Order: sequence, then C-alpha cells, then structure tokens
Amino acid sequence: MKKYHLILSLIAMSLSGCASIPPPARVSTVSVSKVPGKAMHILDAYITETDGRLAVCGRARQAFQWTPVRAGHVDVQFLDNNGQELALKSVAIWLQSRHSPHSYPAPATFEIPSEPWPRATARIVVSAHEGAVHS
Ligand SMILES: [Zn+2]
Repeated sequence: MKKYHLILSLIAMSLSGCASIPPPARVSTVSVSKVPGKAMHILDAYITETDGRLAVCGRARQAFQWTPVRAGHVDVQFLDNNGQELALKSVAIWLQSRHSPHSYPAPATFEIPSEPWPRATARIVVSAHEGAVHS
C-alpha cells in the first residue's frame, strides 16, 4: 500500500509543470493519437491548459534499436472531423543515446504551445521524427 502511494506521488511529481488531469474542458472531446515512429516513439501525449493557454505535452524516446538518435522533433497535427489538417506545430527535442542494448536513457519531454487553438479540431496526431523541425 505504501509503495503504491510512493509511485503515485512520483508520477505526479514528474508531470508537474506540464500537466492538468483531467483534460481541459474546452478540448475534452478532442482525441489524441500517437503515431509510432521508426527512430523514435511518443511515450505519452496529452493536452494541458495553463492560465487559459493550451499546450500539447508528453515524452518521447528513441525506438528499440541500437542506432543513436540525438536531434529530432515532435509534430502535432490538428485535424477536423473530416481528417483535414488545420495546423501543424512542431518542436525540436534532443534525445540521449543508449549506453547499452539493455537500458534506455531518460525520455525527452516536450511542450508545444498551441494557441491559438484551431477551433474545429476534432483530433490531434502526435508523432516524432529524426532531424530538424519542418520549415
Ligand atoms: Zn516531422
């Protein structure tokens, strides 16, 4: 029982600064999907609201392979009901490379400020890619 509480508080600590649970009311119907990448994976992604400003936050790490990946970026696509892209926002991330095939370094956290939030957004798709942010 004690151990369970400790784990919960550790999770809460690691999320602080970039989290609000449950999801902000004005985007509660927006679904969040993560696209598995070849070089890196999105571990989690969620919408947060801080002082009335929405952002997309989460964590990414390199995929289970030996290839070291250092520079990458996270893309958030804002899609409407018909799957039409309303906006694309990206942020650069830096990943530590793995020191052994049996362990992962700490994941990289990201925060993408998303104001103005495209009003017709029905779904967001979060993915991570190698290399620089799309220009
Ligand atoms: Zn990309």
